[in-house]
Amino acid sequence: MRLSKLFFTTLRDDPSEAEMPSHRLLLRAGYVRQLGAGLYSLLPLGFRVTRRVEQVIREEMDRIGCQEMEMPVIHPADLWRESGRYDQIGPEMARFKDRSGRDMVIAMTHEEVVADLLRDIVRSYRQLPVMVYHFQTKFRDEPRSRGGLIRVREFVMKDSYSCDRDEAGLDRSYQLHHEAYGRIFERLGLRAIAVASDVGMMGGSQAHEFMVLNPAGEDVLALCESCGFSANRQVAAVRPPTIPEAEQRPMEEVETPGTTTIAELAAYLGIEPAETAKAAFFVAGDGRLVTAIVRGDREVNETKLANVVRAEGGLRPALAEEIAAAGMEPGYGSPIGAHDTMVVVDEIAAGTPNLVAGANRVGWHMRNVNVGRDFRPDLIADIDNAQEGDPCPSCGLPVVLRNGVEVGNIFKLGTKYTAALGATYLGEDGQAHPIVMGSYGIGLGRNVACIVEAHHDDKGIVWPAQVAPYAAHLVAIGSNRDPQVANIAERLHAAALAAGPEHEILYDDRDESPGVKLTDAELLGMPRILTVSPRSIAAGGVEVTIRATGARSTISIEEVEASLTGVPTED
Ligand SMILES: [Zn+2]
Repeated sequence: MRLSKLFFTTLRDDPSEAEMPSHRLLLRAGYVRQLGAGLYSLLPLGFRVTRRVEQVIREEMDRIGCQEMEMPVIHPADLWRESGRYDQIGPEMARFKDRSGRDMVIAMTHEEVVADLLRDIVRSYRQLPVMVYHFQTKFRDEPRSRGGLIRVREFVMKDSYSCDRDEAGLDRSYQLHHEAYGRIFERLGLRAIAVASDVGMMGGSQAHEFMVLNPAGEDVLALCESCGFSANRQVAAVRPPTIPEAEQRPMEEVETPGTTTIAELAAYLGIEPAETAKAAFFVAGDGRLVTAIVRGDREVNETKLANVVRAEGGLRPALAEEIAAAGMEPGYGSPIGAHDTMVVVDEIAAGTPNLVAGANRVGWHMRNVNVGRDFRPDLIADIDNAQEGDPCPSCGLPVVLRNGVEVGNIFKLGTKYTAALGATYLGEDGQAHPIVMGSYGIGLGRNVACIVEAHHDDKGIVWPAQVAPYAAHLVAIGSNRDPQVANIAERLHAAALAAGPEHEILYDDRDESPGVKLTDAELLGMPRILTVSPRSIAAGGVEVTIRATGARSTISIEEVEASLTGVPTED
């Protein structure tokens, strides 16, 4: 490919809107352009990398027996009503009416379509198991799109679906995907770790996310460096620390003016935050007010809380008037004397005696509050956010918290969709059984961005050979003065082109200064930079620079040509 013909342009300066290195470099090097919030065009270079990532994923999906197909982007809303998700999913799903006035959705994912196909096609246990996948455009109207290709609204995703007779079959399909994902991320040059995760809007019984550590990542992971335990903080189980035993003392009111935070309260009374109860107030999608109590030194984990109160569609913070309507005072609130609220108390707080909690009166708290004696919780559960240094649930040693970006996920769905849609098969017992499903996703653009995050330096991108848009970047220097330079460069370019599409190289034939050409070659990031100049010819051939290490050597023209075309060199 001649650079003089390539549809792209590089930027000399860092784009001001880009915070993450991948965003900055993909813009600067002319791989992508932004059309709107969370909407990106892939320029030819960006498209080529994405196609190579897609091919790695395709090969590993095919290898585990997953069959490629394609399902539509636009779905009739009725299908999503059958599963119940039409109403459960909020404004992140785009909806419209077609010309006949029928409700339609722009698909975020394809569980419903697969379940619909299963009820059409599968009759007998002999047709199972089966696994299918596709690469398809998705649209999710995310409120915060940021970080370039890391968090977008429109993106292409590989999503695959396993369809089994029973849970044991699902376990096998899940394991096959787990292993395939490990191979995919390794081939893409990503150090991804599988962490236990929340099932979220997918539903189902078990899920893992494949995470790449990145300080700018939106997810927080709890990791144990001793035993290898890893979980998304959203679900990380915290083992309660030892709780001091004490006699329950009588509850009494104490004046605490101007203490609306735990820090102010503890300082005013001269006690530890761990001796207080912290209240947080949320409203579920169905309008229920949920009062969550954790110990003052801990934080409420909203995902755990939403799961234990079965708040499909999540929770939002309660308004002051909603809290007051339940008989509680924001800043001095507690469940003591409250009404019309569901009270969930964390296990650690529930087991700690004689806490200081709000008196539901401005400027006052209660001392010696004991859960169960002074108010009755509706639920006692782990709703606590894991903290750095908490004991690992597996081995008890301290965990560390790290930020990560999710590059893939796998879900055990079970029969949630097939039962709702009536996708059954006749078993060997002659009875109808719902088909057991799993679903598995990998976003292409996000993986491209994560590869750049992991493979770049201060000069530009450093593509791993497996996904580089071109195998080499050929730079001709002084070709307008020295016809020999032009001849050699043209010969190498033609040889690579003739060897087939997978051997194609990028050839900088532009009328630019050597400085511009070499700077661009480093910015664009092909694994090898081949420089032909009067000096390299005098030294015996072509100067070959390995982009990753900067190592340079002069190699004969014949040898370089052979390496470009895949023909082994003689001797
Ligand atoms: Zn551990």
